[in-house]
Amino acid sequence: MILQNRVKPLPLQKLDAAIPRLPPQFRSLPKMKEDAKKQQQGYSGERKVDYFLDNLASMYTILRDVYLQDNSKNFQIDTGLIANHSIFIIDSKNYKGTITFNTTLKQLTRDDGKIEAGFEYPPTQVENQKFHLQNWLARHNLEHIPVKAYVAIADPSTIVKVDGDEEEIAKVVMHGAAVPQMITDKDHEAGRKGAKKLQDYQIGKMILRECGEFDIDMFKRYGVRPTDILPGVICPNCGLRGMERVYNGWGCKKCKCFSKNAHMKAIADYLLLVKDSITNKDCAWFLGKITRGTTTRILKTSGLLYDKQHRCWRKE
Ligand SMILES: [Zn+2]
Repeated sequence: MILQNRVKPLPLQKLDAAIPRLPPQFRSLPKMKEDAKKQQQGYSGERKVDYFLDNLASMYTILRDVYLQDNSKNFQIDTGLIANHSIFIIDSKNYKGTITFNTTLKQLTRDDGKIEAGFEYPPTQVENQKFHLQNWLARHNLEHIPVKAYVAIADPSTIVKVDGDEEEIAKVVMHGAAVPQMITDKDHEAGRKGAKKLQDYQIGKMILRECGEFDIDMFKRYGVRPTDILPGVICPNCGLRGMERVYNGWGCKKCKCFSKNAHMKAIADYLLLVKDSITNKDCAWFLGKITRGTTTRILKTSGLLYDKQHRCWRKE
């Protein structure tokens, strides 16, 4: 079963919410846009691999986006799959074009037809994750569990080339579609060799209990302060910030579109980027000069909880 599913990572959620709410001349905006693009590409790759691994959910325990601590060092695993006899770590990579693994220099280069770029060496990355997970398991008296780590190439059209030892790469790198079969084969093989049957669900629960959520400090990373975030309801159709309140909804003066619930996204943006709670007064300002009555009505139907003591609204 899937014990933890994948949601859009918090850093990407924050970037996507902040980018349209910053002045166009904001200093780190180009860097933020570039990071958002990269993170989106990574996230899409992970979801492509999820699609293949879903086939194993009825047999094994799957945890997505595992974020744990090993000796005060955090480590992240795209997918942790607890099978009958081993734990599998799957790291997805989403590249367009041709990628070349150089086994001597431990280097990965990608050629997308326009430019050649270098990247961290994925086999080393997964080995590091494996090392941290093994330490973590040892601290929980589970050092007997074998951990196997693989790299899944998310896009079926990516051409994989090897400069050096092809066998070495073929042992750990494969296209996403090939991963489920590889896992069941390896797991059956371990069973035939007499490996102990794991309590996959219990182990999954144990990992889940200590899982944190990866987050970033928007100020440290990009210099974004809550006061930099511009208010207004954003048009879901054309992206204009500053929709106007009309009867029972919001109207866009640019594309003339009408939306009943566009304010929900604005409130979510506020809670993500400005403060983890919102007062009636701040809500009225952030949504763009709406009346007290409208603000109250909106907040009451927003799904947020009223905190009587602090006179504000927040998520459960
Ligand atoms: Zn519009």
